[in-house]
Amino acid sequence: MTRETDALIIGAGPCGLFQVFELGLLGISADIVDSLPAVGGQCTWLYPDKPIYDIPAVPVCTGQELIDALLKQIAPFKAQMHLGEEVVGLVAEGERFRVTTSAGKVFLARTVFIAGGVGSFQPRKLKLPGIEALEEHSMHYRVRELARFSGRDLVILGGGDSALDWALALAPQAKSLTLVHRSDQFRAAPASVSAFRALVAEGKARLIEFGNATAFSAEGQSLRGMTIRQDDGAEHVLNADHAFAFFGMSPKLGPIGEWGLAMERKALKVDTATFQTSTPGIFAVGDINDYPGKKKLILSGFHEAALAAFAAKALLEPGKKVHLQYTTTSPLMQQRLGVAEGG
Ligand code: FAD
Repeated sequence: MTRETDALIIGAGPCGLFQVFELGLLGISADIVDSLPAVGGQCTWLYPDKPIYDIPAVPVCTGQELIDALLKQIAPFKAQMHLGEEVVGLVAEGERFRVTTSAGKVFLARTVFIAGGVGSFQPRKLKLPGIEALEEHSMHYRVRELARFSGRDLVILGGGDSALDWALALAPQAKSLTLVHRSDQFRAAPASVSAFRALVAEGKARLIEFGNATAFSAEGQSLRGMTIRQDDGAEHVLNADHAFAFFGMSPKLGPIGEWGLAMERKALKVDTATFQTSTPGIFAVGDINDYPGKKKLILSGFHEAALAAFAAKALLEPGKKVHLQYTTTSPLMQQRLGVAEGG
């Protein structure tokens, strides 16, 4: 199915979300796509609980609180969110852009706003030669269809919240479950660690600390076993039908670098009057762009989003003058915000 839209925003970090707002004020509705399953970009994925002190007029808020406030602020504009899918293709098609996602969605967009930050977050992979052939079959970096794993020998690698949460969720139905962590210090919630240690004490799961996966055996795409070596040299060969690695997420510029847009230092070059890239109709805001004096700060991205929205409005309605209006006094903007008197 092809979806037509006036504005497609790639990236739902703080700058992509604020782009929805600035477009909405000018009467442009947007679709927004992010490869992550939830909005927030670096703020929610890298530092949800850390305090931010340099958002104008907000003396302090956490990463999560900032994103929650942005979501509230953009709510009137009802942007269509497409989460958990990466934008993989962007090509011009006549006067519009054909944008495709990893989930097979196709957009025909009149303008595109790249707010891709430092790139799309990808799971850090287990580095064992040949293991990539098993991905999505018996080597996993996310969990889907829980039922597949019941009655199976499972190995989970990692020591953060994802590793512990999934170990607790999968252990009751598994034939065997071993959690392997490279240290004895966990980054997960202490309650989850205690709950897992209790399962181990009851003999319902196994824990190998100071361990790393060093080899695996497989038949075709089916995993059969995994070798774990501990720091003291002890080796364990585990039966394994499925292995899961939860080593965190790392950003990769990914497909954005392949769309033929002018770049410098892994960032998109933009005109600072409009935040348009080298292709008219494609804008770039936030950490993904570069220009003389660029500072990778949230407040810079907010300013960029405002100017990009004005430039897009002029492009979408050629020949019409785009007037600056204040939200305090503009009945039209107040109507769009849903705060107009009597409306
Ligand atoms: P991001 O937040 O990186 O979001 C980009 C989004 O785009 C991501 O969700 C990504 O998944 C998505 N994406 C990328 N490519 C694709 C694709 N092809 N398809 C679909 N989705 C895609 N800044 C401040 O101003 N003040 C601070 O105090 C501050 N503290 C920080 C503390 C830490 C620990 C870190 C790491 C950063 C901090 N920053 C701070 C920087 C700030 O977080 C960034 O400037 C800001 O997140 C940039 O926002 P963005 O929307 O441009 O990009």
